[in-house]
Amino acid sequence: MERVIFATGNEDKMREIRSILADTYPEVLSMKEAGFQTDVTEDGRTYEENALIKARAVAAAGAEGIVMADDSGLEIDYLNREPGVYSARYMGEDTSYRIKNANLISRLEGVPEEKRTARFVCGIAAVLPDGRELTVRAAIEGRIGYEERGTGGFGYDPIFHVPELGKTTAELTEDEKNLVSHRGKALRLMKEELKKL
Ligand code: IMP
Repeated sequence: MERVIFATGNEDKMREIRSILADTYPEVLSMKEAGFQTDVTEDGRTYEENALIKARAVAAAGAEGIVMADDSGLEIDYLNREPGVYSARYMGEDTSYRIKNANLISRLEGVPEEKRTARFVCGIAAVLPDGRELTVRAAIEGRIGYEERGTGGFGYDPIFHVPELGKTTAELTEDEKNLVSHRGKALRLMKEELKKL
């Protein structure tokens, strides 16, 4: 079985990714573990483009195996789909999510439930050892809450409420989140696409 090198430096994401890919790809290394570092500019217009930029950079640096990368973000409809592809950079990379989440909640002050719609989106790209490239995208729909809830997950999870579950994604166990999340869905789609080759 081909090994996977995942082009992310985000340890929270890596934990989710390893668990989702484990049944098909037991060996998933972060780019750091595989000895690669990239400092690419994520200047794509879409999640898929940015994911491909990252995966291509690590593949071009000589990584052996299937090189994958993801790019994800939170789109809040009332804020014209902000922060979107800028989710990690919103208010600055070093600003804590407690502050980012509080800021987003305050920007939605007075906005009624039905207008608080939002989604997490994830684009995944794969570059195969023979140079072929694949991209997929998936999303999870939800609403922005009125306060932070839950301690699981990371980033914007405590304010992302999933109405069908009656919980934020930070109130789900890791396995529960992986079953419904944008990243879980996109990675399962990617596994299916890779099986078809
Ligand atoms: P990326 O590393 O450019 O893909 O950054 C994605 C950013 O989107 C993260 O740093 C988070 O701010 C946000 N994000 C993406 N996926 C999730 C998630 O599952 N939970 C919470 N925040 C997320």
